[in-house]
Amino acid sequence: MFIIKTRAATWAAAAGFATLLLAFASPLSLAQAALGNVALTISPVAGNVYMIQRPGGGGNIGALIGDDGVLLVDSLFAPMTDALVSAVAEVTEQPIKFLINTHIHIDHVGGNANLAEKGVLIFSHENTRKRFFDERGRFPRNGGTFVPQEPESARPVVTFNEQMTVHVNGEDVQVLFAPPAHTDGDAFVYFPSADVLHLGDVYRTTSYPIIDRYNGGTLRGTLAALDKAIDLAGPATKIIPGHGLEIMRRADLIEFRDMVLTIEANVLALIREEKKLAEVMEARPTAEFDAKWTNDPGWGVDDFVPVVYYELGGSGRLQDR
Ligand SMILES: [Zn+2]
Repeated sequence: MFIIKTRAATWAAAAGFATLLLAFASPLSLAQAALGNVALTISPVAGNVYMIQRPGGGGNIGALIGDDGVLLVDSLFAPMTDALVSAVAEVTEQPIKFLINTHIHIDHVGGNANLAEKGVLIFSHENTRKRFFDERGRFPRNGGTFVPQEPESARPVVTFNEQMTVHVNGEDVQVLFAPPAHTDGDAFVYFPSADVLHLGDVYRTTSYPIIDRYNGGTLRGTLAALDKAIDLAGPATKIIPGHGLEIMRRADLIEFRDMVLTIEANVLALIREEKKLAEVMEARPTAEFDAKWTNDPGWGVDDFVPVVYYELGGSGRLQDR
């Protein structure tokens, strides 16, 4: 029998095993496997609305509980479904019955197929459902990675265009289309009785706005969507961001929108001086905000500024602007 006796040997064996695994498994499947061991936390937001989170943050889930069954906002990654169901069971005996997807990214729809198998009815914006038919999904962070197409059972069953209302658990849950911001199928979910607003990834507190051009996101839409969220929210509204550990307020949204407006103005001024992208990057148009908004290693200044630059017409003919 082979017995590992020392810590060093254990580590060496573990390293060898990891190398072996790497030889056969893709980085994505390895990462997904690791997600299966994560414990999720559930905490009250207001009324019957809860927030479910991963340790360290990522893909915040909204949960409305009540006698009609639980309504979730987003479904995390597929390997986390058991943890998601366990988290819900900490606060209610009712089963999960409804799921609203805020957009197509895999950290928000990955649990769809597992939940559909349990009889959960899935809602999304029409454009988000269309993305489920792409041969490969695309994820904007870290320069853009591909993910395999989700199974047919993951596709939303009910879609909306401008808005819809889901009447469950004494709430008139409003699901509202946001202008094309993070993607072209972003949904905001507002719980009027609890006065809680889930903004999906249009509003993240860990980075500059992620404008996913592969999935139809735009700078113009980001600003319009933030304006819409600011209009929807009152001063006491509790806002769940797509990512970030804290509950936010309308005043935080205004600060975020104003930050984007300032960067837009800075980049536009440089474009009007006929600066190329490299020169714009060198001028650091985001400098005053970098300390606060570059905490996400997958989306930094090098990702955000080029999107702003090209959408504002950088490297195009000056007279067109
Ligand atoms: Zn996203």
